[in-house]
Amino acid sequence: MKGLKQVVVAITLLISSLTFGQAKFKVALDAGHGDHDFGAVYHGHIEKNIALAVVLKVGKILEKNSGIEVIYTRKNDVFVDLIERANIANRADANIFVSIHCNANKNTEASGCETYVMGMSKNASNLEAARKENKVVLLEKDYEQKYKGFDPKSPETLIGLTMMQEEFLDNSIALAGTIQREFIDIGKKSRGVKQAPFMVLHKAYMPRVLIEMGFISNPKEGAILDSEEGQNEIAQSIANAIIAYKKENYGANDSDNIVKPSQKVEEVKVVETPVQKPTTTPTEVKKPETKPEVKPEVTSGVVFKVQLSASSKKLDLVPSNFNGLSNISMSSEGTLYKYMYGQTSSYDEAKRLMQEARGKGYTSAFVIAFKDGKKVTVQEALKQ
Ligand SMILES: [Zn+2]
Repeated sequence: MKGLKQVVVAITLLISSLTFGQAKFKVALDAGHGDHDFGAVYHGHIEKNIALAVVLKVGKILEKNSGIEVIYTRKNDVFVDLIERANIANRADANIFVSIHCNANKNTEASGCETYVMGMSKNASNLEAARKENKVVLLEKDYEQKYKGFDPKSPETLIGLTMMQEEFLDNSIALAGTIQREFIDIGKKSRGVKQAPFMVLHKAYMPRVLIEMGFISNPKEGAILDSEEGQNEIAQSIANAIIAYKKENYGANDSDNIVKPSQKVEEVKVVETPVQKPTTTPTEVKKPETKPEVKPEVTSGVVFKVQLSASSKKLDLVPSNFNGLSNISMSSEGTLYKYMYGQTSSYDEAKRLMQEARGKGYTSAFVIAFKDGKKVTVQEALKQ
C-alpha cells in the first residue's frame, strides 16, 4: 500500500506541476555546423547560415509558447563540438533534441527532405548522410582522444562504442514522422523517416532527430532554402511538428500556436480557384480504366484513408503516378492537393493499407480519418 501511495503522490505532483505550468517542455535546437565549418556549400548557398537562420526562426515561434522552453546549441556563427552540442541538451535536461541541416549530393537533381533517427543502417545513402555530418569531428581539436574508437569516415564504428539507447527510438520516430508530415503538408517532397548513425544524435540522451531540410546542391531547392520565405515556411513546419509532439506527449496548453499552410493561404487570399472545391472533403475520383466499377463513396460514418503525399501539382489518379497503387483519391486545400490511398471503415484495415503504401515507397504514409465527410483526428474517429 505504501508503494501505491507514493505513486499517487508522484502522479499528483506531476499533474499539478503540469497544470501550473512549472514543467516546461524543453526543446534543444541545434543549428548544424558554424564558423570555419561551413557544412555543404553549393551555388553560393552555405549550410551553416541556412541551418542557423531556420533554427532562430523555429526558436522564435516556440518561444511564444508559454509551455515551451528553447535551448540553443548556438545562436550565432560559432563552432561547437558535436559532443558539446549533445551535452548542452543533456545538461538542460531537454525533452527533445532537434538538429537541423541541409543535404547535398553530387547529383544536383537529388531533392526532398528527410528526417533521421539514430540507429544502424545498411542503406548506402543513409550512411553517406551520416558520414557527411560526422566528418565535422575532424575539425575538432584532439578528436582522436575525444571520440576514441570512432572513425568518422565509417559511421558503422559508432555502433560498437556503447549500447544504443533504444528507449528513445519510438519517440524519436514519432517526432520524425510528425516533422515529415508537416513538410508534406507544405508541398515538400518527402524522402521519409530514416535511420543512420549520427554522432551528434548518439550523444544526446533524449528523443532526438536530425532534419535534412532539402538539398542545397539542387539549384531550385537551394534557392528556396536560402530565401526568407522558404525559411519561414520550413521553420513554421518544424515548429508545428514540435508543438504537435508536445501536445501528444506532454499535454496541451493555451498557447499551442500551430499555424497550418491552409490558414496562411486564407490570410493572403489566393484568388486562384482550385479545380476541386476548396474544402477538406475528400473527393472520390474515377478509378483506372481496367476497373470500371466505382465504389460508392462512404459519406456517413467514419472512414479511414491513408495519406500518401501532398503537392501543389495536380496528378492524374492512375496507378503509374502512385507507385502502382490504385484506389487513389484526392482532396484539395487551398492550392494544395492531398493524395490518399484506400478507403475503409476499419482502423485495422487502414493500418494494413498504410503498411502496404509504405512498402511501395511512401515511407511516411499515415492514416487519416473522416467523419461524415469531414476530416477529424484518428483519435476522434476511434471514439465512434
Ligand atoms: Zn550538415
